Amino acid sequence: MTEAFERGDFTQLHATVIAPGLCTRCGACAGICPHGAITIASCDSLPVVDASLCTHCGRCLPSCPGQGYPVTAWTAARGAPADADPTWGPVHGIWRGYACDAEIRAAAASGGIATALLCYCLAAGLVDEVVVVTLEAGQPVVRFTDDPAVVTAAVGSKYAPVPLLQTVLPALRERPRRIALTATPCQLAGWYRATTLLPRLREYLVLAIGLFCGHVQTTDSLTAIGSTINVRYPDAATFVGWRCGPYPGCARFVTPEGEVREKPLYPWLDIAVPFFTPQRCFLCPDGGNWLSDLTLGDIHAGGTDETVVIARTAHGQQVLAAARDAGVLTYTAMTDAEKRATVVTGITRSKLRAGLERIAWHQRKGLPAPEFDYAPAVMCRAKIPGQTPGLLKYLLAMWWRHPGRLAWLRRHPRLLEWLGRQLYRFPTALPGYRLLRRLRRG
Ligand SMILES: Cc1cc2nc3c(=O)[nH]c(=O)nc-3n(C[C@H](O)[C@H](O)[C@H](O)COP(=O)(O)OP(=O)(O)OC[C@H]3O[C@@H](n4cnc5c(N)ncnc54)[C@H](O)[C@@H]3O)c2cc1C
Repeated sequence: MTEAFERGDFTQLHATVIAPGLCTRCGACAGICPHGAITIASCDSLPVVDASLCTHCGRCLPSCPGQGYPVTAWTAARGAPADADPTWGPVHGIWRGYACDAEIRAAAASGGIATALLCYCLAAGLVDEVVVVTLEAGQPVVRFTDDPAVVTAAVGSKYAPVPLLQTVLPALRERPRRIALTATPCQLAGWYRATTLLPRLREYLVLAIGLFCGHVQTTDSLTAIGSTINVRYPDAATFVGWRCGPYPGCARFVTPEGEVREKPLYPWLDIAVPFFTPQRCFLCPDGGNWLSDLTLGDIHAGGTDETVVIARTAHGQQVLAAARDAGVLTYTAMTDAEKRATVVTGITRSKLRAGLERIAWHQRKGLPAPEFDYAPAVMCRAKIPGQTPGLLKYLLAMWWRHPGRLAWLRRHPRLLEWLGRQLYRFPTALPGYRLLRRLRRG
């Protein structure tokens, strides 16, 4: 796989990516189109083309990360350390930290490092503007800003597909400016693919802050989550955010009477992930966001309100250190055990392994799948191909996602939640599983 991609128009993009369920909704196709012919109307929508505007210029297909991307070649080109563990991606250092501003830290998804870094980039004059994702009327909205108040108000993760590049690429083409942004792995891969065609834009991205990414969910997951706490969303409630309140936070709804109803993070993930995650997320091995300068994530497994920070480039490490010296954030080293528990088991290796395993299964069955260029050592250590509980869990989830079965389940919120928990935590949540495991070990 090289950087020279096949040219192809929207018809091919639709046939090879959108129709087979490989679209990430990153917005690269819409953003690269010089005629504004492609639109992603909302974060739940797929790209559509206005045939009267399309000139078949052939830019949309090569800019699409849904078909996969040469992640190893790209990270090597950006100076990945030679001794890096091939399943961790490029690592210059791993820390845990938080924003020194207590209000940012309290409102943030994790420890507020993303918000603190964006504010620092503006204050230090490293960038002209930053790109943030705000939540407006329950919908994620992409905004360029040089106002720290807007950056601070955009704090928190939006677990929906956000067509970031639909806004970012045309805005930068129209008025080039130095920016920093936060991005999920597919958004960042879309940036790299699109800027292969528009290389001039690359110099304007001063800092790419990647977010660990397990999954995103379409916003109809909120209706299903609401139904388990007697909230009729969107008809009779507004949605405030996915990570409100003390760490790790709750999905929060407010009824017309002003009553606040909440569903804690892990129980809502049980419902959202198996049933409302776009299929392409299940085929993504890049949860650790290898293409960023700095990757940020949660300390799950009993963690506190701190952000895990991986410096993926020397430049990212320098900006992080400068932000600490300026007093906007602080961080400390992680022990090897912490790294293994939160970083490796938590996301980098688990997502890599599950993603590659499912891709291998799709390929064996002749089904559409994205292509990546991971080294044979990674494939081997990811245990490909294998019939593991991870694969079985994916196949079971896919069976239940059949529209008829899912519609039936949605009429039974308690069952939806119970089954979601079994599927998301398969096989550990199965009744008797822990007892059986203990007996076997004994
Ligand atoms: C869709 C998604 C899935 C994630 N999955 C995991 C996971 O499985 N495991 C894990 O450890 N961490 C995951 N994260 C990362 C985690 O939720 C935090 O975003 C990260 O730890 C940074 O926290 P923070 O407190 O430093 O960020 P904050 O200071 O709260 O700032 C978050 C920043 O992210 C931006 N942002 C929010 N949503 C999006 C979006 N959809 N696209 C682009 N930018 C956005 C906001 O504009 C804001 O600037 C995910 C994040 C997202 C958005």
